[in-house]
Amino acid sequence: MEKEFSGVTLECRQGDIVNQKDCEAVVNAANAQLETGGGVAGAIHRAAGPGLAKEASTMAPIKPGEAVITTGHNLPNEYVIHCLGPVYGRDKPEDELLARCYRNSLKLAEENGITSIAFPAISTGVFGYPMEEAAKVAFATIIKQATTLKHLKKIRFVLHSSKDLEVHEKILTEMRE
Ligand code: ADP
Repeated sequence: MEKEFSGVTLECRQGDIVNQKDCEAVVNAANAQLETGGGVAGAIHRAAGPGLAKEASTMAPIKPGEAVITTGHNLPNEYVIHCLGPVYGRDKPEDELLARCYRNSLKLAEENGITSIAFPAISTGVFGYPMEEAAKVAFATIIKQATTLKHLKKIRFVLHSSKDLEVHEKILTEMRE
């Protein structure tokens, strides 16, 4: 499904973050060292090839809520924005730190003139953030920023499972400007 907020299209899809050919940038749910790992980071680094870790290593470590940008290497996207989500129950306040991930990613996208971007559900894997709460924070943060976005016109959420897609679609349906 998709929904428009101040001229920005927000969409939810089931799929794999490494397979978003029509997005200029993809977001990595990174670790502090910007290394490969499990989940999203593992998939992104495998698809991008070793050049990604090499380029990213010069910017590590990053703190929860921070984001950095690299090129896409062997991915079909021009850029990768790497952000470190909060570990649920450890990095506090977790909602503010998660919101910062989205704000900082949007800021980097704008600074680089990016028009389309795909996000995974940051922090909802090994970092343990409950899916529904995370979706509320993510959408509320993006919708609040929508009026400030000049270049970015398409923001996609890529959910791994049909259940995660369902949760996101329900929350997005409830969101108002
Ligand atoms: P974090 O460490 O921020 O929790 P994870 O990579 O463990 O990040 O998981 C974040 C979310 O991304 C989880 O909901 C997980 O199911 C999902 N996910 C894992 N692999 C992929 C993928 N290849 N594409 C899209 N989403 C993925």
